[in-house]
Amino acid sequence: MSLKKILLFCLELLFPPRCVFCGRVIAPGTKICRACAETITPVNTFRCMNLPGTGQNIPCGILYPYEGPIRDSIIRFKFYGEKENSDFYAEQLAKLIQSHAPVPDLVTAVPISSQRKKKRGYNQSELIARKTAETLGLPYAECLKKIHDNREQHLLPRSERIRNVRGVYRAVEEEAKGKKILLIDDIITTGSTLCECCRELLRGGAKTVVCAAVAQVDKTTC
Ligand SMILES: [Zn+2]
Repeated sequence: MSLKKILLFCLELLFPPRCVFCGRVIAPGTKICRACAETITPVNTFRCMNLPGTGQNIPCGILYPYEGPIRDSIIRFKFYGEKENSDFYAEQLAKLIQSHAPVPDLVTAVPISSQRKKKRGYNQSELIARKTAETLGLPYAECLKKIHDNREQHLLPRSERIRNVRGVYRAVEEEAKGKKILLIDDIITTGSTLCECCRELLRGGAKTVVCAAVAQVDKTTC
């Protein structure tokens, strides 16, 4: 056991960790409680996301359905500062990528507007993406920028979501060009945001794009 792991274990003895999903105190060195491990069924699979108008299918890895304690955990992570949850999400995403997808060149995240980042203090998808990159031993790069602020997707009906994200993101071509990119998001709802980001990365010269998200609201994409 490395010195870092021993120190972490001692720290967890003093400040016991809590289950990422339900918040119960758990044994040092663990991330989720036994009850959650037994009752939560991960999706842990890749689904195909069709990019409308391009004929391209993008593989998209999903860890969990967006429901119950998973939903609660992501809400605490996203809106209530439980940033440490990103360690667990990233660990699981890295395992999923290693088991299914060809190794990408780099990892990037769906960006949020600078105003929203300033208000929240962090971009939740970037935190997960940076940890995933670290776990996979890959570089993290900012391959996308949000160039226009738009209305929050989850507040809009499905029919308006595609229009709401159109032209909102811009690829950073010097980072994306010729690269096999792993694009990370926290939650997939209709898939409109991820589709738009993939389209923009490919327009900016990315060789391939694979997506992965912690949770998916339903199975409909784009
Ligand atoms: Zn639990």
